[in-house]
Formats: sequence, C-alpha cells, structure tokens
Amino acid sequence: MTSSRRTKLAVIGSGLMGSALARAFAAAGHDVAVWNRTPSKAKAVGGGTTAFESLVDAVSGRELVVVSVSTYAASAELFSSQAVASAMAGKTLVQLTSGSPADARSGLEWARAHGVDYLDAAILTFPAFVATDYATVFYAGARAVFDRHLETLQAIAKNCVYVDEKIGSAATLDCAILEAFYGGSLAVLHAAAMCQAEGLDPKAFFAQKNSFLGLISVTADAAQGMIENNDFTGQQCSLNTHVAAIEHIVRLSTDARISSRFPRELLENYRRALGAGLGEQELPAVFRTLKQD
Ligand code: NAP
Repeated sequence: MTSSRRTKLAVIGSGLMGSALARAFAAAGHDVAVWNRTPSKAKAVGGGTTAFESLVDAVSGRELVVVSVSTYAASAELFSSQAVASAMAGKTLVQLTSGSPADARSGLEWARAHGVDYLDAAILTFPAFVATDYATVFYAGARAVFDRHLETLQAIAKNCVYVDEKIGSAATLDCAILEAFYGGSLAVLHAAAMCQAEGLDPKAFFAQKNSFLGLISVTADAAQGMIENNDFTGQQCSLNTHVAAIEHIVRLSTDARISSRFPRELLENYRRALGAGLGEQELPAVFRTLKQD
C-alpha cells in the first residue's frame, strides 16, 4: 500500500519487529531513518531505509518517531539523554515496545515533560505479518494525534484500532489478549501431552480444534453478559460440575506421570470460587473471586 503522503519518520530499534516495521513504512513510500544500538543491524534493514549511527541524527528533522526495542526500560534509557530529548521536541513518539499500562504512563510523563506528542501502541502480530491484513495495532493517547498520523501508521497495519485516550489502554488490551493467548496455548500443549501420555495420537485432539475454540467462544460471550449484569446464575452447568471435570484432568496427569502443575493451578482457582459459595453458579462466577484477589 503506497501512502499519498510521504512522511519523514524514524524507526528506533532494528530487531525482528523494528526491521519489519521500518521496511513496511519504506515500502509505503515514506522516508525512513533507522537506528539501532548495534549499528550493523540498522544497516542490514535495507528496503530503502537510511541507517544512522547517531540517535540524535536519526530523529532530527523527523515528524514521527516509532520505537520498537525489547523493553520500556531500554527505551527510557535511550531517550534520557538531553540531546535526544531536545531533538524530540515537537515530534510525535509512537511507542511500539510491549509493556504494561504503568510503562505507558511513565512514557507519557516523559513526553509531556519534553514537549513530545505521545501515542502508546501495541502490535498484535509476528514480523512476517506486518503490513498484511493479519496485523492489528492498538493505539492509546490523544485522539487528535492518532488521527493526524493514521494514514502513515496504516503502512504497518491496515487495522489500526484507537482504544482510548487513557494512555495505558492499549497495553491493557494487549496484556488481556496475550493472557488469553498464552494461557490458552499452554492448555492446548498440556492437552496434547495428556493425549500422548495416554497413547492417544495428539492429532485426534488437534482435529477437535473447533470444539474447544467453540466452547471458549460461547463462554466468553456468556461471561461478557454476566459480568455486565453482575449475575452469574444460569441453567447450563454449575461450577460444582466443572470442578469435578478438572479433578479428572489432574488425576489423568498424575496417573500418566506428566506435569500436573497447570491443571492443579486451574483447580485451585475454580475451587476458590466454590469456597466463596459460588458452586451453584455458572463458570464465569470465578470472575468474582479473581476480582477479590
Ligand atoms: P528483538 O529482535 O530481540 O530486538 C530487540 C531490539 O531491542 C534490538 O533492536 C535491540 O538492540 C534493542 N535493545 C534491547 N535492549 C536495548 C538497550 N538497552 N538499548 C537499546 N536497544 C536495546 O525483539 P523484537 O522481536 O524485535 O521485539 C521488539 C519489541 O516488539 C518487544 O517489545 C516485543 O515484545 C515487541 N513485539 C514483538 C513481536 C514479535 O513477534 N517479534 C510481536 C509483538 C510485539 P540490539 O540489536 O543492539 O541488541
């Protein structure tokens, strides 16, 4: 996708993600400066980008500065120098490094203190899918700043989602989705290990992908309504019954001598809801005990 407007921008960080972002901006016709702590990686980005050895030179004369490094602490260190901070004044910083909402709040504080417009962002894809329809980027911060840069930012993901003015909102949504991803993925892997340990080809489990994804989807929909109404009663399946099912998973894991850590952790969470007197309610009632934690 070629943008109608050629933006002068910098991408700070030439790791796997930063390199993909920089190449996508350049492919869309933007003028892209790249900088990396290890200069050889910046030079290797290619795709029509220009590598700089000095961070100040890389950001000078740029309207937009996109950061993708390992951590916010690394980013904060880079921008802590007075020379870099002065060169950033009047520009927009888009922080694409993954972090927590508290990280985003400290990023905004720094930006405000140095006259920098700030968007906190979270990218939900692998580098290979940057600039494709599978890439989504969540943005938090001032709506006007987002709108001003939207066309340029669409070079890395057509699906640019403005979440909220609250600066931590993109990181919050990212953490929420990642928790569902990592938790769900661990469950899938443990399930495959159970099958294998019991002599059942994991293929049989993976063939049922639509069954368990469907169950999660139905539960998420039900949970949304129940949380909204603060009413977890229903006629489908009580928490008491769910807990009995989880006990079978722990038993299978123990008998088959594979790790039972994950199902035991599940069981502990669900049992806590029984302890709170929620056993006759539906599965999403566990939400109440999580809030209490
Ligand atoms: P990566 O390939 O490991 O690259 C890390 C980058 O951070 C490198 O440019 C590295 O510079 C730089 N860096 C680390 N510590 C630094 C420091 N103290 N000072 C300056 N630069 C420092 O990681 P990545 O996959 O590109 O990830 C970058 C960010 O994107 C992370 O926040 C990650 O969570 C996020 N993200 C990645 C993916 C993905 O699939 N890869 C997906 C979504 C979000 P050197 O080359 O000098 O070491």
